[in-house]
Amino acid sequence: AMAIEYARLYAEVRDFAEELAASQARLIQSEKLAATGKLAASIAHEINNPLQALQSCIYLVADSFPPDDPNKPYLDIAREELERIARIVERMVDLHRPPRESSGPTDVNRLVENVMALMRKRLQQGNITVHTELAPDLPIITATEDQLKQVFLNIILNAFEAMPQGGELTITTRYHPARRGDGWVTISFQDTGVGIPPEQLPRIFDPFFTTKSKGTGLGLSISYDIIERHGGRIEVESTVGQGTTFTVWLPVKQKAHREHRRAAPVPMGS
Ligand code: ADP
Repeated sequence: AMAIEYARLYAEVRDFAEELAASQARLIQSEKLAATGKLAASIAHEINNPLQALQSCIYLVADSFPPDDPNKPYLDIAREELERIARIVERMVDLHRPPRESSGPTDVNRLVENVMALMRKRLQQGNITVHTELAPDLPIITATEDQLKQVFLNIILNAFEAMPQGGELTITTRYHPARRGDGWVTISFQDTGVGIPPEQLPRIFDPFFTTKSKGTGLGLSISYDIIERHGGRIEVESTVGQGTTFTVWLPVKQKAHREHRRAAPVPMGS
């Protein structure tokens, strides 16, 4: 009986240690992001003006070039590379956003459908079959819709790019009741793409980590930041050659709703 009890205790301690390590990793990630995000956004602002001036100059010069000028290809390269910088800078500005843009009651299923309406054509053209399994009992959550949309788009675009030969994308929403609190809503995106090698997995949420020639490496770090601000987290599981699943966890804060209303300022003298 003692051995059984020891085994149980050991399992409990091990689970606890694992959870601790995971939450520590999340903490480091969010601190890293907050600092990098702020710096990156302020640099991006500084770069933006001279960059736009440069782009205008190149366009003006390109216009006055005869099409058969031997130097024209160099100008084209310069223009393309400037566009690349502009893309990166644009995303960098996104890295640091005010703590709370207007958040409100959000129907996650509807949001998923909206995003899919935007992406369906593109996925079809890429030979990707989409399955959606939306939970009918999904509670309304409090969220900033535009930000969540951006997260879903980022993850779907990554899935798209991970399946250059086509494949399947399964989007599932679920409600997970919890003993404490109002539970969680999950949105998972499962692709049958190239997968992520285990040694890259810890780095995919790092700003500027990318394995793509035209990537910015900012999509996932921005997404991580957004979900963190919503009190949630993003989990990822991947097997090289089989595919990847990203799962977004978002808290259902029904109490926070009510507390929020109760905490509204009371007019003097009432
Ligand atoms: P980007 O897409 O610009 O590279 P992200 O931050 O969105 O930037 O992604 C970082 C990296 O994570 C990608 O370059 C890719 O290596 C990896 N990744 C993300 N999503 C997937 C996926 N669904 N399948 C395989 N690799 C992925």
